[in-house]
Amino acid sequence: MLKFLKQVGDYAKESVQAAKYIGQGLSVTFDHMRRRPISVLYPYEKLIPSERYRGRIHFEFDKCISCEVCVRVCPINLPVVDWEFNKDIKKKQLKHYSIDFGVCIFCGNCVEYCPTNCLSMTEEYELATYDRHDLNYDNVALGRLPYKVTDDPMVTALREFAYLPKGEVDPHDLDPKRGRAGQRPEDIVAAAQSD
Ligand code: SF4
Ligand code: SF4
Repeated sequence: MLKFLKQVGDYAKESVQAAKYIGQGLSVTFDHMRRRPISVLYPYEKLIPSERYRGRIHFEFDKCISCEVCVRVCPINLPVVDWEFNKDIKKKQLKHYSIDFGVCIFCGNCVEYCPTNCLSMTEEYELATYDRHDLNYDNVALGRLPYKVTDDPMVTALREFAYLPKGEVDPHDLDPKRGRAGQRPEDIVAAAQSD
């Protein structure tokens, strides 16, 4: 009898928990239903990618030590590291480096594991070409400084939804002084350290 009562109690507890999760999910749905669609007039207006956006990879030739860690950690062994051994200085010398963005899945593993930090992910997302082979970037193309939406005088940069002030849904005509909703990661760290 006791076992039966315990089972009923557990079942009731799980039902309440499930109802709570459904309620939380629906609250997000209802929250979205209140929002109006917003048009971003691309290419005259562009959204500013988030701080951790994983766009086109930037490569610094002089920092690369040809260790090929980026190749080993890449799920598809994509980066091509062309080097030769220099007998005079007894070191590998990089000749050529390339990444084909037609194949890359922008997972960021190569950036994460590169021991000299010569790879970094940029906020550049406009990689459309007529020929997919044009997406195979050599070290010169990879070394090009990243394009920034906020630096382009011809474009109106708009904040992404997550970076809008609390209660705002439209990124147009916003007072730039109004901060985003919630705290930035560095604010959270600073608050935790001051406790
Ligand atoms: S981002 Fe990922 S898929 Fe692209 S080259 Fe780096 S490790 Fe490979
Ligand atoms: S992991 Fe970094 S240093 Fe090593 S070959 Fe790749 S880009 Fe060069």
